[in-house]
Amino acid sequence: MMRVTLPADLRNRILREAADAHPRECCGLLEGLRDADGFRITALHAARNLAAAADRFEIDPRDHFAAHKCARANGAAVIGCYHSHPVGACEPSATDRAGAEEENFLWLIAGESGLNAFAYADGGFARLEWA
Ligand SMILES: [Zn+2]
Repeated sequence: MMRVTLPADLRNRILREAADAHPRECCGLLEGLRDADGFRITALHAARNLAAAADRFEIDPRDHFAAHKCARANGAAVIGCYHSHPVGACEPSATDRAGAEEENFLWLIAGESGLNAFAYADGGFARLEWA
């Protein structure tokens, strides 16, 4: 079972961003390291949400580029993304499934019931454990 390490201050920041963005979705990218055991998140890069609809997120490509550049400079990588679900479960939605494409990419979804982690691989999402 792959595990996800997320420092408490970063976890709190995601939950705060989700609350601040409500009733829209917050979104951002996760910087860190990936190995055989899972994902280690070391930094967050909050992004502008370009989606017109409230129940969607679309990361601004400029923020995406900046996050990659910053992660590389830190000797890390962009290993995943996060966003919130203002209503409904912290589970990948049909839209998330349709939009996911990068293999072995970490997805954090924040919502009323907390924060869940998933890895996207082989065309599907698998729920991950917190380390
Ligand atoms: Zn979603």
